[in-house]
Formats: sequence, structure tokens, C-alpha cells
Amino acid sequence: MENVIIIGTGCAGWTSAIYTARANLKPLVLAGEQPGGQLTTTTDVENFPGFPEGVIGPDLMMRMQQQAEKFGTRVEYDMVTSVEKNADGNFTLTTAAGNNYHSKTVIIATGASPRHLGLPNEKELIGRGLTSCATCDGAFYPDVPVVVIGGGDSACEEADFLTRFASKVYLVHRRDQLRASKIMADRVLSNDKIEPVWNSRVTDYLTDGEGHMRAVKVHNTASGEDSELEVKCVFVAIGHDPNTGFLGGSGVDVDENGYVLQAGHSTTSNVEGIFSAGDVADHVYRQAITAAGNGCQAALDAERYIAANEG
Ligand code: NAP
Repeated sequence: MENVIIIGTGCAGWTSAIYTARANLKPLVLAGEQPGGQLTTTTDVENFPGFPEGVIGPDLMMRMQQQAEKFGTRVEYDMVTSVEKNADGNFTLTTAAGNNYHSKTVIIATGASPRHLGLPNEKELIGRGLTSCATCDGAFYPDVPVVVIGGGDSACEEADFLTRFASKVYLVHRRDQLRASKIMADRVLSNDKIEPVWNSRVTDYLTDGEGHMRAVKVHNTASGEDSELEVKCVFVAIGHDPNTGFLGGSGVDVDENGYVLQAGHSTTSNVEGIFSAGDVADHVYRQAITAAGNGCQAALDAERYIAANEG
């Protein structure tokens, strides 16, 4: 029987692990499909306190993991498929590999995954010119035009990063102004290599004879006109969906978009003993530092819950 199982290895998960490990609870972390979470798909993180020169996303995550392991955190790479509360108040977690884990508490820190547009051929195009990760794939498209879809900080960050490689970056946004923070928006709008395409939606991905991205079809909602942009790669940056699909049988309440609901000024869910932290529960702030802070809160809440139940 574990004291605490932490599901997820982003900023929230590792911070929960550091705190529960230092409280001598010997946490077990179950890592899912994208170990390290979303920061592994980022380059320079310039706003995490303590790094005035910035820090590379994957490096930051590796350092958090090392810090958690230094205090006795164990890690298994096994995807959780269900969480159930048992009659004795403890939890059984089942994984894709068919393993069962038992724990007194659970911290859900599974983050959120990038959204796609829902166009018919996108599944086949992933890896053939369609991606959500400029850091991972940008360097594969040197000296060719590419598209970024979206108008938030992610889209701007991706567009700015891609100018290192691409000959031109079209930023296709459905409105006529960016949602991104002013500093990011200014950076993008003053970059000669980035061409904003306002009031526009990508309505089709067009392929070449080998099934690779050749162009996108764009509908301008202001003029009603359709056009094509010849590009070799499309980077989709239109937000995220929380990774809560595995909670179906857990009894944990989620909101209409699937985010775990936290009770009041705490990280507890409606199911006693299950806590949540980070982007899986937060669609408002969604920052590395807020996820880390929430991970700390979940660890303290789990620690107190265990202490209270063990008298
Ligand atoms: P976001 O702020 O929710 O922006 C998503 C963008 O995609 C919006 O511009 C939205 O358009 C557009 N969009 C959504 N659904 C769409 C669809 N179906 N078709 C076309 N466009 C669609 O998401 P985000 O950029 O991923 O940022 C999430 C959070 O992380 C934010 O709080 C952001 O500040 C933060 N973040 C921070 C940094 C940083 O500080 N370095 C970097 C990345 C992200 P509308 O504007 O019309 O709604």
C-alpha cells in the first residue's frame, strides 16, 4: 500500500513528489505518455522565478525529477486507465500494462493535451507536416513556409521560435487581434518573417502525392473568400484539453470542459483522498509556476489527510 500515488510528471507532479518525498511519504509517480509534461515541448522558459537567463523547458523538468528522486520518489512508466475508491477508503489504480496499484491518496497531475481542429485527415498528417510542437519539429522545416494556427501565447511563442528555421511563418488567427500577452504579441507583430492572417480559419489540409502537407485552405470570415497557403508544415496552437478521461469510474467531479473541480481553497476533489494539481484543474492561469505551486498545495493536503486519518 502506497501513501501517495502521483499521476503525471509535469511541474505539478514533480513538485507534489518533492514535497511528499521530503515529508517521508515515499511517493510513487506514475508517468504517462508524455513524461515531463508540456514544458518538454517548450524551448526557453523565461518566466520561471530563479532563472534570470531563462531555462530550457526539458532541462527544468529533468532537474525537478532529479530533485524528487533525490528525496526517495520512485517512478514507474505505466499509463493509468482507472482510479477507484475501495470500501476501506483506499484507492486502486489500474494501468494500461494491466498492473494494479494501491494507495491511501492520489494526486492527479495529468495536465492537458494540445487540441486539434478536427479536420478529416489530421490523424494521417501527424508526423507528415502536422504537429503541435515547434520545439520538437521546427528544425525539420528549414527555409520553407509554415503556418501556425492560433492567437494566444502558445501560437506566438511557436511562431517566433519557427522564424529561426522557416522562410516565412503565417500566423492564421480567427479574429483580428491576438489573445497573447502584450510582450509576446509585440514580438510577433514586429517580426518581418511572421505574416498574420486575420479573421481566418483553416478549413482543409491539402496533401502532395506522398501524403505530406502541401498547403492549407483558408476561409476569411470577414470577406468570405477562400484561399490557399502553400506550406510544408502546420503547427496547431489553439489550446488544450485536460487529461481526465481515465477518471470516469472514480466519482471525481469535473467541469463541463473536463477540468477536475477543486473544493474551495484547497486541492481536494469531491472524493476524499483524491487531490489534483496543475493544468488538469486550472484553465485560468496555466503557468509552469502556478502548476508547481498547486503541486505543493496538493502534497500538503495529501500529507494532512493521511495524518488525520491515521490519527
Ligand atoms: P489560449 O490562450 O487559450 O489561446 C488559444 C488560441 O487558439 C486563441 O487565440 C483562440 O482564439 C484560438 N482557438 C481556440 N480554438 C480554436 C479553433 N477551434 N480554431 C481556431 N482557433 C482556435 O491557449 P494558449 O496559447 O495555449 O495559452 C494557454 C495558457 O498558457 C495562457 O494562459 C497563456 O498565457 C499561457 N502560456 C504562456 C506562455 C509564456 O508565458 N511563455 C507560453 C504559452 C502559453 P480566440 O483568441 O479567438 O479565442
